[in-house]
Amino acid sequence: MNFADKNQKIISSVPAVYLHIPFCREICPFCSFAVRRDRANLHGKYIRGVVEEIKRRAEFLKETPQNKDEEKLSGENLLESIYFGGGTPSRLTIPELSLLLREVRNCFPWSDNIEISFEMNPEDVNPEYLSDLAEIGVNRLSLGGQSFHDSTLKQLGRCHSSLDLRDAITVIANSPINNWNLDLMFGIPEQSVLMFKNDVEEALSCEPSHISMYGLEIHEKTPFGQNKQIRKWESEHQEQFEEMYLWATERFKKAGLFQYEVSNFSKKDKEGQNNLLVWSGQEYLGFGVGAHSYHNQTRWGNVRSLNTYLKQLEQKAWPVDFEERLLTEQLAAEFLMLGLRQCKGINIEDWQKRFGLHWQKQQHNFVNGLCDEGRAFWEDQYLCLTPKGMLLADRITVELMPTFSKI
Ligand code: SF4
Repeated sequence: MNFADKNQKIISSVPAVYLHIPFCREICPFCSFAVRRDRANLHGKYIRGVVEEIKRRAEFLKETPQNKDEEKLSGENLLESIYFGGGTPSRLTIPELSLLLREVRNCFPWSDNIEISFEMNPEDVNPEYLSDLAEIGVNRLSLGGQSFHDSTLKQLGRCHSSLDLRDAITVIANSPINNWNLDLMFGIPEQSVLMFKNDVEEALSCEPSHISMYGLEIHEKTPFGQNKQIRKWESEHQEQFEEMYLWATERFKKAGLFQYEVSNFSKKDKEGQNNLLVWSGQEYLGFGVGAHSYHNQTRWGNVRSLNTYLKQLEQKAWPVDFEERLLTEQLAAEFLMLGLRQCKGINIEDWQKRFGLHWQKQQHNFVNGLCDEGRAFWEDQYLCLTPKGMLLADRITVELMPTFSKI
C-alpha cells in the first residue's frame, strides 16, 4: 500500500471519547463535578456547543503532525469507546443523544466492537428509554444506585428511593442492554458497616456485570465540605471506612467478581472499556464542560461554567481552562499512578527503562516495607498492591516518585 492509499484509510485520532452532560435533577451536596440544575431549555444550546467542539477538535487534530504521520496512519486507529458521563446523561432525550453520537461518528470512525457506555440515575430508567438507547447504539449502562437504604440516599441528597432503585434494576434486567454497572458508595455519615454489607449483598443478588464501589470523598467547596459535623464524622471513621472497603473486596471476590482496579469489579470480560483504555495510558478526548483530554503528551481540561463554555465556542476560541504539555517526569508519575491503581500492577523494569529512571535504596526499602505489611507483592517484574495497599495507592505513588533520579 502506498502512502496515498493510506491517506484514504479511515482513522480516528483517539481510541476513546468522553461526552460530559452536566445536567442533574438536583445537585447532591457532596458532588464536585461540573454540574448544574437541569433546565430542558438549555439542552439545545449545550448540544450545539458540544457538536461544534467535536467538529473543530477533530479538524484541528487531523492537521497535527502526529496524525499526518505515515506510521500513525498505517495502524488500525478506530474509536473503541464512547462514554457518556456527567452530570446525568439520562436527562437528555434520545434525539439529543443521537445528535451527539452522529457527530462523534462523523469525526471519529468507530470500531465494530465499540463500547458505548451511558450513565443513568434510577429515576430516569424506563423500558422505552432503554430500548431507544439500545437502538442508537448504547450497549453498556452505568446506574448511579449508591445504596439500597433510604436513609443513606437521603443523606447523600439523591432524588431516588430504594424502591426506585430496585424498580430500575428490574427494568434494566429485562432490557436489551445486558452489560451494566452498579455504583455503590461507602463511608457515608450515619452508614453503619452492617448497612453497607447489606448494600453489597443486595447489589450482588441483582447480578450486575460490573460494580464500581466508591468511598465518599469530601471536597472543600461542596456543602459536605463546609459542614463541620460531616468533616468530624469523616475523621473519626477512618477505621470503619477501611473495614468496609476490605470486607467488600473480599466479598466481591468470593462472588466471582474480578477486581481490576481500586474501585472496579467485573464479571469476566466485562471491564469498562473506557477505564481500560485510559488506565493503559491511551489517548482520549473529552467534550463538554469540565471534560478532560489527553493527546500528544498534552493534557487539558475544559472550563466548568456552561456560559463561558458556550461563549468561548461562539468566539471561535477553545473552551479550555488549563493545558499542560507533560514532561517526562510527569508522564512517569502518571504511568506509575495508573499502574499501581490496577490490580495487575506495573512492570517496574519496563517502566524504569521507558522513562530512564531507576530506584534508589530508599525506594527499594519502602517497597519491602509495603510487602512486609501485606500492602504490596511482586509478581515477576510487576509490583502489585493488595486491597490494603490500594487504600493508600495515591500516597504510595507520591512516596515512590519525588526522589527518583535520572540515570
Ligand atoms: S447526580 Fe451525580 S453528577 Fe449529579 S449532582 Fe448528584 S452526584 Fe453529582
